[in-house]
Amino acid sequence: MAISDNDPQAATVENDALSTALTQFDDAAERLHLDDGIRRVLRVSKRELSVNFPVNMDDGSIRVFCGYRIQHSIARGPAKGGLRYSLHVSLDEVRALAMWMTWKAAVVNLPFGGAKGGVMVDPRALSAAELEDLTRRYATEISIIIGPSEDIPAPDMGTNPQIMAWIMDTISMHKGHTVAGVVTGKPVAVGGTLGRLEATGRGILFVVEELCSQKSIHLEGSTVAIQGFGNVGSVAAHLLQRAGAKVVAVSDRVGGVHDGNGLDVDSLLECRSDAKPLAECLGVDKITNADLLALPVDFLIPAALEGQITSRNVGDVRARFIVEGANGPTSPEADRILGERGVMIVPDILANAGGVIVSYFEWVQDLQFYFWEEDEVNDRLRKVITRAYREVAAAAERDGLTMREAAMALGVGRVVEATSIRGIYP
Ligand code: GLU
Repeated sequence: MAISDNDPQAATVENDALSTALTQFDDAAERLHLDDGIRRVLRVSKRELSVNFPVNMDDGSIRVFCGYRIQHSIARGPAKGGLRYSLHVSLDEVRALAMWMTWKAAVVNLPFGGAKGGVMVDPRALSAAELEDLTRRYATEISIIIGPSEDIPAPDMGTNPQIMAWIMDTISMHKGHTVAGVVTGKPVAVGGTLGRLEATGRGILFVVEELCSQKSIHLEGSTVAIQGFGNVGSVAAHLLQRAGAKVVAVSDRVGGVHDGNGLDVDSLLECRSDAKPLAECLGVDKITNADLLALPVDFLIPAALEGQITSRNVGDVRARFIVEGANGPTSPEADRILGERGVMIVPDILANAGGVIVSYFEWVQDLQFYFWEEDEVNDRLRKVITRAYREVAAAAERDGLTMREAAMALGVGRVVEATSIRGIYP
């Protein structure tokens, strides 16, 4: 690997999101025999907006926050991707997440490019009024590049439907009319779609069901450990348990709970709704996040942060299958080692695509002012994600690739095709 001052891969640690994303891209580029020109185009974001903006705080002080909106590619359609509020947000992290969105939209064949936004803030440390002011000001700052045909944000870590409603309202105030299609993941009352809140977790269920049917495994009674109990992990836990799986461990950022006979996910959900960490829920054994990743389960679902399974802890992993609910949870080195050990990984860009698939349905409904029943949303989600899974699995089988290699080849291949057909302007 070439290391120089201006090499984006220089001086990065193994679990750094951007170096992971770039290594995965370079690997796909080799496999697809891409020429250097197209590699140069797709290795970098198309557009990067950095904003520093003031917010009046409740105590009368002014604080300045830093945020980003990055569009990696718009070759296949409007840029699409979430907005993250976290103290860990950095330019490079958002670049990686935007690039993953491009491949994700392409692998499930949505007419979108990829984008991501982030604000460096701990949303739990703000009052409701401060959170609203920060959101409205950030929305105004990025209003110059977002819109229903330009770039459509959605929830991600630290953001939620209410935050999407404030963004939609802010953009609509500027325009003088309601622009519902500028964000997805909105509350249903203001142009959101039924089924969006659960969509990423439901997509994981559909992926696990398809994997089970292809491998002749009974989902009923199989064991599952889930790292992360946010919007993705908690819904996946609930739906997998309802489908008959034994959810033996779940965790949040503090730690987790474990029961070899299967946890009662619904009572954990109730406990968590009191905003308590899982480890404070009574009557269950505690487990650390490190121990959870090492459990001998059928399905390990990392559904928290990127960079969780690395060469440091990959030797401990004893799961049969890994289904990536988070974006970028496995480092390239860990990925390689797991591949050699025959541990099958359903990669993030396929496994967690349920969210952006239903975001696409929400956008379509907003543009048509015509809203669907929840069953229709869920049925269409199952169709889209199952078809993508089958395409990836067939390519993996045909070409002797891992599921990640096959998904990347398919996703990157589609973006390359669109980029090449459109040509280089002028
Ligand atoms: N933030 C989600 C993701 O990483 C959803 C993005 C969207 O719906 O646009 O896929």
